[in-house]
Amino acid sequence: MAFRLATLAEGRAVLLDAGLVDPPGGDETSTAGATARWWDLGRLTDGRLADPMAALSDSDVLHTLTDEQGIPAGEPDGTVGLTGLGPPVPRPQKVFGIGMNYLAHIDEMDRAPSTAPVIFTKFPSCLVGPAADVRIVGDRTDYEVELVAVVGRTCRDLDESEVWDALAGVTVGQDISERALQNASAPAQFSLGKSYDTFGPTGPAVVSADLLDEQYDLLLTCAVDGEVRQDSRTSRMIVGVKQLVAYLSAVCTLEPGDLVFTGTPAGVGDAQGRCLEVGQRIDSHIVGVGHMVNHCV
Ligand code: ZN
Repeated sequence: MAFRLATLAEGRAVLLDAGLVDPPGGDETSTAGATARWWDLGRLTDGRLADPMAALSDSDVLHTLTDEQGIPAGEPDGTVGLTGLGPPVPRPQKVFGIGMNYLAHIDEMDRAPSTAPVIFTKFPSCLVGPAADVRIVGDRTDYEVELVAVVGRTCRDLDESEVWDALAGVTVGQDISERALQNASAPAQFSLGKSYDTFGPTGPAVVSADLLDEQYDLLLTCAVDGEVRQDSRTSRMIVGVKQLVAYLSAVCTLEPGDLVFTGTPAGVGDAQGRCLEVGQRIDSHIVGVGHMVNHCV
């Protein structure tokens, strides 16, 4: 019926219960001890969907293994915390980023709204799990909490009305950005400054859209060392998920596991002269989707 698809650190595809979706106790930064039960997908499918990329390309099957709360039948195979998880989509073919997709963020970055979506790439080698360390570069490494759409089937030229059916679901992403390199050239080219190794924490799981109460209006926050810096709703996106994915599919054939980082709201560090520092902790949360805890090293 519904699912939370994750990848254990050693690469095994699993289904999770809701244990790692929202921080326990409602405190954005109190995540100690949170765990989820996991069910081994290889065991549930006679080995066929043991690999997360195979599982993503067959999300119809995932829907048949679970109830409406996302829980598979039978006993779980174990429990896991955030540190036991890798990126839920470990080897996507493509990772799109969307720049300047919340008005208040455009204002704080002192840019003009664009008439077309601002598209860049994060090279897939930057992806890490929901509790991985982020390696700080210089003094302008910045955080950007984002909703990430995950493609679930091979598709092209999608109509907006077809987009949610073409998605496996959504997950939480940090579009970590090194502002100096991002703006080093004229005109600026975002891709490389957003692709340093470890600059793409994602997870904890790909959550199917039918588990979301408010598909178009999700609360997303980012706290640094416990101080909430970003606090917005996905309903404030300028170009929404349906329009973005349809727009991309008019150019590129989309494949299962392709990721679309849908842009970050206001509150990033560079605009305040307060970028990330070694030793800091980043808490990212999208209510009903998941939370991540990453430390800066
Ligand atoms: Zn971004």
